Amino acid sequence: MKEIKLFINGDFRTSEKSFISENPANGEAVAKVYLPTNKDIDDAVDAAEAAFYSAEWRAMDQNKRAEILEKISEKLKERRNELTELEIADSGSCVRKAKADVHNAASYFKVLAGQLRKFKFEVKDEGASRPGFSHNYKVYEPVGVCAQIIPWNFPLVMAAWKIGPIIASGCTTVLKSAQETPVTASILAEIMNEAGLPKGVVNIITGGAAEGEYLLKNSKVRKVAFTGSTAVGRKIMEAAGTRLQNLSLELGGKSANIVLDDADLSIAVDGALYAFLYHSGQACDSGTRLFVEEKIYPAFKEALIKRVADVKVGLPNDPATGYGPVINKKQFDTIMNYIETTKKEGGKLLFGGARQTGEGLEKGHYIQPTLFEVTPEQTIFNEEIFGPVLAITPVKNEAEAIKLANKSIYGLAGAVWSKNQDRALRVARQLETGTVWINEYHLLNPGMPFGGYKQSGIGREMGEEGLKAYLEVKHMWVSDCDEREKKPWFDAIF
Ligand code: NAD
Repeated sequence: MKEIKLFINGDFRTSEKSFISENPANGEAVAKVYLPTNKDIDDAVDAAEAAFYSAEWRAMDQNKRAEILEKISEKLKERRNELTELEIADSGSCVRKAKADVHNAASYFKVLAGQLRKFKFEVKDEGASRPGFSHNYKVYEPVGVCAQIIPWNFPLVMAAWKIGPIIASGCTTVLKSAQETPVTASILAEIMNEAGLPKGVVNIITGGAAEGEYLLKNSKVRKVAFTGSTAVGRKIMEAAGTRLQNLSLELGGKSANIVLDDADLSIAVDGALYAFLYHSGQACDSGTRLFVEEKIYPAFKEALIKRVADVKVGLPNDPATGYGPVINKKQFDTIMNYIETTKKEGGKLLFGGARQTGEGLEKGHYIQPTLFEVTPEQTIFNEEIFGPVLAITPVKNEAEAIKLANKSIYGLAGAVWSKNQDRALRVARQLETGTVWINEYHLLNPGMPFGGYKQSGIGREMGEEGLKAYLEVKHMWVSDCDEREKKPWFDAIF
């Protein structure tokens, strides 16, 4: 069986604690995984600190760091088959999703390298500088030692989005992968060594809440970057507040998908299903609230119910499968509880609502794609489920759609479907959310920022904003008043 060790200061080590990670599709053992002790976590932070102040890392220029990012990208591509298989077994991702994840992680490192080569770490501000008086620079410098925590839904991509800007910015980190899915981050560790990343720049451990809390407490950690649920994000922000750590949060969502009455129905129906069923509903940006204008609602609903039956349910490693299990029994139970609550609250079940049965699915955590017609008071309209359950609400018009879409503590993503681009843009501009697609869903561009409004997060990943999240900015004032009499302000004290 594969062994997943702790990656500290460029070396792989075991520890006295371990567990067996299981395949969500069939319960089979995937790997023996070592959990860090507190001493291991401290060692990892010490290694990150030593690397941050090491002459080698400090002196490494941005082109050399970009080269390392490009090498990582290449090596991810070289090992794509192995990474895909491991991601499928460890996270229950379907083949097509797992392949896309490996591709997306590799292309993220490549795009980031391009951004890094062009990024200006020193910018003279012509507006602020005055000839004969001063010239003023903004100097971007790495924040320092970071602690990064990721969830289980896109293990390799989440690790890439965290580690990429560490290397690009010149920071160092201890990344904690989710205990549910620790495998592919460990392969990334091997790849970083092969790509020539200096020891200690990136350290990788795994574990749950206890290991995460212990890591964040270390006084050497200057920045915390967390991706996960809003509930845990809130706790992390409270703790970071007492320590005044720099903080980035990528949290939950309850994204609105708005179908206007002039949408192309066949595309919008497939789009609405893709928006909430991708990765069995375990994507943070899932379109889990669907608003449809009344005029087309009956036809749309009928088409949606018919089409959902075409979703290809199966074992994740079958290339034909488009829809697999949810991550574990705990998540299965949470989702089933939401389904029961919705039934009790009077939500109208349109499709699904039970365990998914079928040949070979008995040992996995499968739930039927589930469609409910609900009103805004009902629980599933408001709470993130993180599973394959769609809350559908007909709306009178565009204005009502916007109002209800914004009636949420979340603001991560959303979409508008219409053949009239101006109309769609008008609606999109009024949505309080970090990403809006028009006639599209889930696609991300590594050159563009991703993150949330409201309780979906603070800060952005990817794009220039994602790099700047790991940089401090220093104002460098260079005086051109080189004679004492040109400095009359000194006289304020004489
Ligand atoms: P979670 O909040 O339960 O756990 C996330 C990570 O935090 C895990 O590594 C976990 O071990 C760790 N953790 C848990 N409690 C902790 C604590 N008290 N201190 C420190 N670390 C702690 O979330 P999850 O169930 O793993 O993931 C699903 C959630 O992640 C959903 O809410 C989803 O929307 C969100 N998510 C957001 C984004 C985004 O970019 N906004 C991306 C993916 C997932």
